[in-house]
Amino acid sequence: MGSSDDFDKVIAVARKAMDRMLSDRLPPNPENFTLWFVYYSGLNPDLTRAVDIASRDGIALSQSLAEELFKRFFSLEAEAQAIRETSDRARYALGRVLEQLGAVGSETERYGNALVGFQDELAQPLNLGELRAMVAAIAAETMGIVDRQLALQTQIQESSNQLAEMRVSLDSARREALTDGLTGIANRKAFDLMLLEAMEEARRDDQPLSLLMVDIDHFKSFNDTHGHLVGDHVLKLVARMLTECIKGRDTAARYGGEEFSIILPRTNLDSATRLAEQIRSFVGGRQIVNKARNANYGTVALSIGVGQFRPGENSLSLVRRADEALYRAKRNGRNRVSVEDANETV
Ligand code: GH3
Ligand code: MG
Ligand code: MG
Repeated sequence: MGSSDDFDKVIAVARKAMDRMLSDRLPPNPENFTLWFVYYSGLNPDLTRAVDIASRDGIALSQSLAEELFKRFFSLEAEAQAIRETSDRARYALGRVLEQLGAVGSETERYGNALVGFQDELAQPLNLGELRAMVAAIAAETMGIVDRQLALQTQIQESSNQLAEMRVSLDSARREALTDGLTGIANRKAFDLMLLEAMEEARRDDQPLSLLMVDIDHFKSFNDTHGHLVGDHVLKLVARMLTECIKGRDTAARYGGEEFSIILPRTNLDSATRLAEQIRSFVGGRQIVNKARNANYGTVALSIGVGQFRPGENSLSLVRRADEALYRAKRNGRNRVSVEDANETV
């Protein structure tokens, strides 16, 4: 494909994004543009789905919904923004602390000089009146510096409180950026980071590491039958059940859509396969009910692929192998666990 083709395509996508904002009467700001540009380029299937659901009946998307979608799908940018804002504020607060420390330094020096002056004068013979005056002067100097030091201390305390607040808000921005908005478990970005960490650790400690790729069977028809809201409820439920089935350093993440992944450090292929089987039967055996509506939606089944990390390979190759196993489970009839082929190279 020639680069002018690419250029035309990009222009066409940009135009669609622009037209969409105009017809929905959304301000064409960078956030809205990003949202619609990525939507029309089809680069993020999850975003495409979310937008399609939100605007299913030809209803224009409100600005607040657009903001919510932006936050959900471009949290990296949201995190970067939080970091930028916080580091600006932190730089300012630190500057003030440094100024205050500088002031403490010069105050102390001044006070020290005053004391040296008094010491010199005390070396001279003084009468009672002069001595009394001098003691009063030392006391006044001392009170002055105590007052000023107290004021500085308060100011420094304030700055340090501000810095502590910033740390909390950075921590929560980071947590939010690594959490899946719907299910509350780790999102894809967190999964990518944690898998790299787990691989590093497995290499370092010469320990096994396994990965489960989990996909809900026929979820599209479940949604079609019961509606997306019930579907969303099931995703939350499955996420919770996965979390209940694992322990310690294991991590369950929403890999995307109706797919989950579980990182199992210090776990070999056999143990991982046994756990996958437990998860499959635990989730598959649970009736999905809505007590308030007195509704029973039956059960959902899982297909699971299991792979074990091979030292020297990269994360993509491990994920692909577990994914291959998952698709074998689908091909062989779903609602089953399938294990990587020992000879399989991806
Ligand atoms: P298979 O057994 O082959 O996995 O079939 P499937 O229908 O589960 O797979 P397919 O990939 O065809 O469809 C996945 C469906 O998952 C499509 C979509 O309706 C649903 N889905 C993905 N993300 C969400 C979500 O966030 N909420 C809801 N309610 N449904 C979702
Ligand atoms: Mg599925
Ligand atoms: Mg799927």
